[in-house]
Amino acid sequence: MTIVPASKLDAADPLARFRSRFVAADDPAVVAYLDGNSLGRPLAVTGERLASFVDGAWGRGLIRSWDAAWMAEPVTVGDRLAEVALGAAPGQVIVADSTTVLLYKLIRAGLSVRGDRDEVIIDRGNFPTDRFVVDGIAAEFGLTVRYLSAPHASGVRPEDVTAVLSERTALVVLSHIAYRSGFIADMAATTRAAHDAGALMLWDLCHSVGALPVELDACDVDLAAGCTYKYLNGGPGSPAFGYVSARLQEQLRQPIWGWMGASDPFAMGPQYEPAAGIRKFISGTPPVLAMQPLKDMLELIAEAGLDEVRRKSVALTEQAIALADELLVPLGATVASPRDPAERGSHVTVDHPLFAEVTAALWEQGVIPDFRPPDGIRIGLSPLSTSFAELERGVEAIARELRARTAA
Ligand SMILES: *Cc1c(COP(=O)(O)O)cnc(C)c1O
Repeated sequence: MTIVPASKLDAADPLARFRSRFVAADDPAVVAYLDGNSLGRPLAVTGERLASFVDGAWGRGLIRSWDAAWMAEPVTVGDRLAEVALGAAPGQVIVADSTTVLLYKLIRAGLSVRGDRDEVIIDRGNFPTDRFVVDGIAAEFGLTVRYLSAPHASGVRPEDVTAVLSERTALVVLSHIAYRSGFIADMAATTRAAHDAGALMLWDLCHSVGALPVELDACDVDLAAGCTYKYLNGGPGSPAFGYVSARLQEQLRQPIWGWMGASDPFAMGPQYEPAAGIRKFISGTPPVLAMQPLKDMLELIAEAGLDEVRRKSVALTEQAIALADELLVPLGATVASPRDPAERGSHVTVDHPLFAEVTAALWEQGVIPDFRPPDGIRIGLSPLSTSFAELERGVEAIARELRARTAA
């Protein structure tokens, strides 16, 4: 197969103009940034956004800004996120906590309405924090965890879940896009299968949000959580988001009863009375400062259009696989992501036993993918900030480092 030159793909890319909106996108010291799926680049406006926040809402508005804006932001930013990237109607998303903490809260909330059931389904290939939180809750409450195993280069399919669902299943916890292989799970069919068995469905959206359209309401999802520092470029430690379907909000009880999720935080009352709606899933003071950069990225995604973002994401991962087949597979590497773009998110993983040391050498040269055990390089492609030229330079550098170590 002949590879289309990167220059040609970049010239024809309708989203190419967005790259200059990011800090140092053309800094020659960063030869190829292929890890936007772990930490998105900052937007150029983020510096200004933060400086004016310090000077204005915080510096001059002072405590008054809580009333003027900040109290509402976990929900107003959540609503905008829901609209731009989650296919969710208003009033179902909060921005708060970390993904890990929200997973804990939402899993416990899900279990609160399935108290007669004692099993949780998750897969062994899920991200560690998801498995650890499920294991911890299971240990705390004497539940059984049903572990699914999926093929290395793909992920969990609806029939895998159906095979272990029973009248004992309280909740199914899966990643929509697998962090290692990039496999896209079938959200609609899997959720339907869980519901048919009377279980609730929770999706982790860390690797989906901002990379492709997600339809939480249309898929009848119960619960979802994700982070905002990957394809939403919120910055290191930016808060997570949690989705609770409006259908369930009344019945669910979350485990961390804090004053900020109470019906009237400033009543300073003797007892916890949960707020109405999605607000009751908030616990303590929201991370307002850390949710500012995210606002601009949501507007950028809205401007570009998520369908266009997905279209470029597919073009980038197709090109990554073509380059891997041409340059890396002949050196003994294997592609560990789905080859069907309909089943693939916005990164491509390639395995080779030498990739741990190759990755370390690449970082020294400003070529920045990441390494995932036991032997995978993940090539993360963030559609609004990654160019085809950057991808090509990156894969060529991987090949160069690999060749230097495999030449007889
Ligand atoms: C990145 C990621 C997380 C991160 O959890 P934090 O609490 O934000 O550190 C969790 N789950 C998945 C699937 C991820 O990809």
